[in-house]
Amino acid sequence: MSGWKLKYSGLNKEQEGLREALCTLGNGYFATRGAAEEAEADDVHYPGTYLAGSYNRLKSEVAGKTLENEDLVNWPNWLQLSFRLDGDKNWFRLEEKQVLDYRQELDFSEGILRREMHFKDKKHRETKITSTRLVSMANPHLACIKWEFTPVNWSGPVMMRSALDGSVKNEGVKRYKALSSKHLKIIEQGKTNDIIYLLVQTNQSRIYMAQAARCHVYSGNKKLRTNREILEEEGKISERFSFQASQGKTVTIEKIISVSSSKDRAINEPLNSSLETLRNELDFSALKARHSEAWSRLWKQFDITLKSPGNSQLLLRLHIFHLLQTSSMHTIGRDVGIPARGWHGEAYRGHIFWDELFIFPLLNYRLPDLTHSLLLYRYYRLGAAKKLAEKEGLKGAMFPWQSGSSGREESQVIHLNPKSGKWLPDHTYLQRHVNLAIAYNIWQYYEVTADRNFMKFYGAEMLLEIAHFFASITTWSEFRQRYEIRNVVGPDEFHTAYPGSDEPGINNNAYTNVMTSWLFSHAKKAFELIGTTRQEALKQKLKLDDREFSKWEEISRKLYVPFIKEGIIAQFEGYEQLPEFDWEAYREKYQSIQRLDRILNAEGDSVNCYKASKQADVLMLFYLFSAEELVQLFKDMGYQFNPERIPDNIEYYVSRTSDGSTLSRIVRSWVEARSDRECAWHCFREAIVSDFEDVQGGTTPEGIHMGSMAGTVDILQRCFTGLEVRDNVLRLNPYFPEEITSLGMEINYRGVWLSLEFSGNQCRIKSRDGAASPVKIKFRDQLFEIKGKMIKTISY
Ligand code: BGC
Repeated sequence: MSGWKLKYSGLNKEQEGLREALCTLGNGYFATRGAAEEAEADDVHYPGTYLAGSYNRLKSEVAGKTLENEDLVNWPNWLQLSFRLDGDKNWFRLEEKQVLDYRQELDFSEGILRREMHFKDKKHRETKITSTRLVSMANPHLACIKWEFTPVNWSGPVMMRSALDGSVKNEGVKRYKALSSKHLKIIEQGKTNDIIYLLVQTNQSRIYMAQAARCHVYSGNKKLRTNREILEEEGKISERFSFQASQGKTVTIEKIISVSSSKDRAINEPLNSSLETLRNELDFSALKARHSEAWSRLWKQFDITLKSPGNSQLLLRLHIFHLLQTSSMHTIGRDVGIPARGWHGEAYRGHIFWDELFIFPLLNYRLPDLTHSLLLYRYYRLGAAKKLAEKEGLKGAMFPWQSGSSGREESQVIHLNPKSGKWLPDHTYLQRHVNLAIAYNIWQYYEVTADRNFMKFYGAEMLLEIAHFFASITTWSEFRQRYEIRNVVGPDEFHTAYPGSDEPGINNNAYTNVMTSWLFSHAKKAFELIGTTRQEALKQKLKLDDREFSKWEEISRKLYVPFIKEGIIAQFEGYEQLPEFDWEAYREKYQSIQRLDRILNAEGDSVNCYKASKQADVLMLFYLFSAEELVQLFKDMGYQFNPERIPDNIEYYVSRTSDGSTLSRIVRSWVEARSDRECAWHCFREAIVSDFEDVQGGTTPEGIHMGSMAGTVDILQRCFTGLEVRDNVLRLNPYFPEEITSLGMEINYRGVWLSLEFSGNQCRIKSRDGAASPVKIKFRDQLFEIKGKMIKTISY
């Protein structure tokens, strides 16, 4: 396996969904799963095309309830390309042929998906097809497919069919089967000259999408004249064309498509726009050249080179590749967030969660304009977040756990346990910590970029509104003489209530409470950065006065944090009273116990009753803060926390966590990095293969795990290198697992591109930009400045 290509050989029905998700091509504007061109949605295949941030709401009747869900829409399938030979009744489907050879390859360096097929039909006619596909990173509205079609041992007429299929539904997740799935209305379909087109609209959110397609057929460089026939079915427009094929002679079919939507900028109308775009594009090779150049520019900024055993380098690039296909420079300025599962499938309905926390650090150091844009996705929903808070009788802004189009809460109220077939109440929406993640992300973006304007016009306002919200959910406990946050859910989704209680939520989740204390101090820091004019304006607009600020300070110092015993933080109040879970027995009984919640529920028990977590919760504190910062945070809250007890906390919770979320392993690797490098590497490896090997047994085909993909890259970027920005200084403190012998990357710190290379016990820092302003760097205890073009080598 090279470091740039994901390769598969042979057809594998069981693995097809996984391959489709991992071979998705996209450009931050739209993405299409790596399904075969000739395939339609069935038990094996699921072609899906998703426009970033395009949602539609539908009502469904389930378990006696009317539910409304907002889904990421599956748009018309533009891939469709198939053929029929003389005497064939059916259109070509590879599964129905005798497959002599099959190879599939995704090349990240150029963003190209290739499929090579060699097959034989019942009449012993052997044919080879090489399919090359791209979704343009140069012009986000374009995509194309090239088929090189070679009759190996026959000659004769070939009938090709190319289609745009708008009859698709959202059927990519089996668990959602009982829910309504038809989101599209066909508005118009037809042809103009050699172009076929389709205009559809979502039936509730009224988003239009136009697709236009054109096929050209070549023999060598010569364009073949073909007989064309247009076929219109309900919601699907196809063109058929035939040509004469000769043994051993390759005929090339190029299908170029364009996509426009009513959410685009600088257009008059989507159909008009997509036709216009397509008219100017004639040729696959020119389009491919521009696309490859765009990818090579991106890789210059994003590649991380790694020398280590096994396939880590390859998977690292796979993860960066999918991050950039989900969110790229084409996302900037669009009203779009970054979805937990990429635009790669329909799981979690394309919603935006706290997973941004694991994703933004990569973007901050490489494409901060993109983080800026993704943070604005939140800013534009500040009004909705304020309404959510108000509805609960609270102040400030309460961002929803799951966010989609408008910023209302999109979490489902009931969910299906596929193990028991029962619909259960879902209280995971009580994860108010999503707000803390937003606040943390704003601060991190500011630390890396020093973008004061962002803070002034957007960041500080969000921080203040979130702080206002948290001040309003804290309550004073006379008994404890401390503030509490009750009825929430922490990052661990296994604990959504106390055993046997009808009241949802748990009290005093340590992570939420400590982060809230951090929030208050940082909302104040942000406020101090924005200058008196803006300060006054915000005070007036948000109705904040000095009394409110003093209250925040007081809460910040007196928030309650539960401990199990000296030095061991309790995940939440009362956690210590829960019985231990019999991990061994369940590991023996079930193949996988990652989703213990479903297993126990199907057994008539509840995971709420045990010391068993789905994912790292307390450990998040060691993930986000250095020991030094954490000790200070606790001190500010009036607690003494001995950093020497961090390993004990890690050990305590690691042995009580099922890793039912792919985010969990990221955190585990990170928190072990300074004390147990071997274990950190082991967890890193577990995390980095999780989508590639679909370790959760079926979730990756429904969409990649964006947080986990970006999170693994960030372990290399920040954790093993000790990269952090604090007090206007870029700090490095490398501590690599033995398996890593060298690592190289480019980062952008406050507008300056720095190339960092770690190898053996040496670090080389290079700044190439002669005009760059000086930056302060602290390598362990050594403080120095990098100015203009400069190379600095440090031995350590
Ligand atoms: C995890 C959450 C995460 C969500 C989306 C869930 O399984 O428990 O922490 O935000 O997936 O990725």
